[in-house]
Amino acid sequence: MGGTVKLIVLDRDGSLGQISEDYVRSPEDWSPQAGALEAVARLNQGGWRVVVASNQSGLGRGLFDMATLNAVHARMHKLLAGAGARVDAVFVCPHAPEDGCACRKPEPGLLLQIGQRYAVPLADVPVAGDSLNDVRAAAAAGCQPHLLLCGQLSAHAGAGGLPLPPLPEGTLVHKDLAAFADFILARGAVPDKA
Ligand SMILES: [Mg+2]
Ligand SMILES: [Zn+2]
Repeated sequence: MGGTVKLIVLDRDGSLGQISEDYVRSPEDWSPQAGALEAVARLNQGGWRVVVASNQSGLGRGLFDMATLNAVHARMHKLLAGAGARVDAVFVCPHAPEDGCACRKPEPGLLLQIGQRYAVPLADVPVAGDSLNDVRAAAAAGCQPHLLLCGQLSAHAGAGGLPLPPLPEGTLVHKDLAAFADFILARGAVPDKA
């Protein structure tokens, strides 16, 4: 059976966008990583649909409301469109850590939701993010974990970088979203099965 959606899940803060030390609380606070918008455009051109999965505990903590989050994402979508890129949807965990929800990464809940929504086998879905929580969620959901060293773990990037902590089995490491896109596009439509 052909026609399965080629789907990629990206983390937002530290992966597609810059990390904000004090949360992204207004649209002006959101800015893309260098080359990230173009990377999404290239993935789209390669036939990949891209969605975002993001922990936004600032909602649960009352630091900003859903209207503000929607405004941030409207800016993100506009900047993506300006680069010829498209993110289909943004899936958000709105909970604080102490809520003990099933969707805050490293829990797999958001990824399970995405798999259901797109009716795609999660084993076929690359998940890219800049934190251990991203690759742990990916592994817990049975997705393909990809760690980006352009955010929380940037001190571990490059020659002379700090050693990486233990990663889930099968995790692939990339410098940033552009390098991840290069890898995915060079690999072609059919992922290698380990
Ligand atoms: Mg992140
Ligand atoms: Zn949650």
